[in-house]
Amino acid sequence: MSGIYLHIPFCKQACHYCDFHFSTSLKYKDELLDAMHKEIASRKDYLDDKKLDSIYFGGGTPSILSPAEINAFIDGILKYFQLSENAEITLEANPDDLTSAKLSAYRDTPVNRLSIGVQSFFNEDLLLMNRAHNANEADSCIKMAQDAGFHDISIDLIYALPSSGEERWKQNLAKVAQLDVPHVSAYCLTIEPRTALSHFVDKGKVVELSDADAEKQFHLLLEWAEQHGYRAYEISNLAKPGHEAVHNSNYWKGVPYLGIGPSAHSFNGESRQWNVRNNARYIQTLESGRGDYFEIENLSTQDRLNEYLMTGLRTIWGCELSHIRTQFGKEAEQYVLAAAHPFLRKEMLYIANDRLLLSESSRFLADGVISELMWVDPRKG
Ligand code: SF4
Repeated sequence: MSGIYLHIPFCKQACHYCDFHFSTSLKYKDELLDAMHKEIASRKDYLDDKKLDSIYFGGGTPSILSPAEINAFIDGILKYFQLSENAEITLEANPDDLTSAKLSAYRDTPVNRLSIGVQSFFNEDLLLMNRAHNANEADSCIKMAQDAGFHDISIDLIYALPSSGEERWKQNLAKVAQLDVPHVSAYCLTIEPRTALSHFVDKGKVVELSDADAEKQFHLLLEWAEQHGYRAYEISNLAKPGHEAVHNSNYWKGVPYLGIGPSAHSFNGESRQWNVRNNARYIQTLESGRGDYFEIENLSTQDRLNEYLMTGLRTIWGCELSHIRTQFGKEAEQYVLAAAHPFLRKEMLYIANDRLLLSESSRFLADGVISELMWVDPRKG
C-alpha cells in the first residue's frame, strides 16, 4: 500500500508557535491548486504500489478548500491511483472554517476522517497562540461534525503552554472525554526559532514552562488516556480501539508516500525528497514544465536504520530486532544493542518478543534516548 499527502499552504492568520510552510495571502490560490494538479500528473509513477490506503489533506489549512476543490483533487488522484477498500481520507480542518452546511457538504465527498486543530478549549490559550478560532467554536465544531455524520474525528491539542497550568490541561482533557472524540494528537509546545512565540520568550513577555512541569502534563495525559479507554499508540497520538490513524501509522512503519504541494515531503523506500517552500517558485516551476522544484536525498543503510529507530521507538510496536538484522545486517543489530545497553540497565528501554521498546516512564524523554542509539559512521566524521 501507499499514501498521498497534499499540502495546502494557506492560513487565515499566522499562529505564534508555527514554523510550517503557509501564506496568509490567497491571491494565487487558484494558480497554486492548478500547479498541484500538474504535480499529481507528472509524478504518477513515483509510487510503485498504485493502491492507496491513505490520502491526507494537510497544511496550512486544507479546510479553506471548498468541497468541490477537494473532490477535484480526489478525482485527479484517481486518474492514476486506486483506493483500497476502507481507504482513509483525512482532511485537516480549523474550527473557524466549519459550519453545519460546509460539514454536510464535506460529508458528501470521499473524505471520511477529520483532524481538527482545536489546540485548547480556553480563550486565553487560543489568544496566546494567535489561533483564528475561539473556545465556543472549538467546542461547537466537534458537535457539528458528529451531527454531520463524521465518526472518525481526531483533535489536536497542545500542552505545556506558558498560559496554562495543570488544572487547565485536566479540564481540556475532560472536555475531550465529554465530546467523545475517538482520536487525539497531543503535542508538547515546542518554541521554534524565528517564530513570534520565540521572540516573546526572548523579550521576557512569555515565560516557558519548565521541563518538569511539561513532563507532569504528559503523564497526566497518559493517565487520562488509560482511564478513558484510549491507547497511546505513539508518543503524541492516542486512539480508541480501531481509530488509529492509517496515515500516521504508515509513516511510522516506513510505508512509501507521495507528497504534493510546496514543502511537501515524499518517500519511496530508497530516497526522500522535499518540494520548495515557496508558493511562487512552486507555481512558476510547475507551470513552465521544469522539474526542479524539489531536492532529493538518497538514503544510506545507516539513514534508513536511524529512521527506523526514530519512528519505531516512538510507537507501542517498537523496533523488531529481526527486522534490523535482516534489513540492515548483523553488525547493525549489534551496534543498536550495545548502544541500548545502558538504557536497558536503567529500564528506560526493554526487550519483549524480540522487539526493542521504550518503557512508559521514559516516553517523555524519547528523543534524547533515541538520539543515543543513532548509528553514526565514524568514517563520515
Ligand atoms: S493554522 Fe496550522 S499551519 Fe496555519 S499558522 Fe496555524 S498552526 Fe500553522
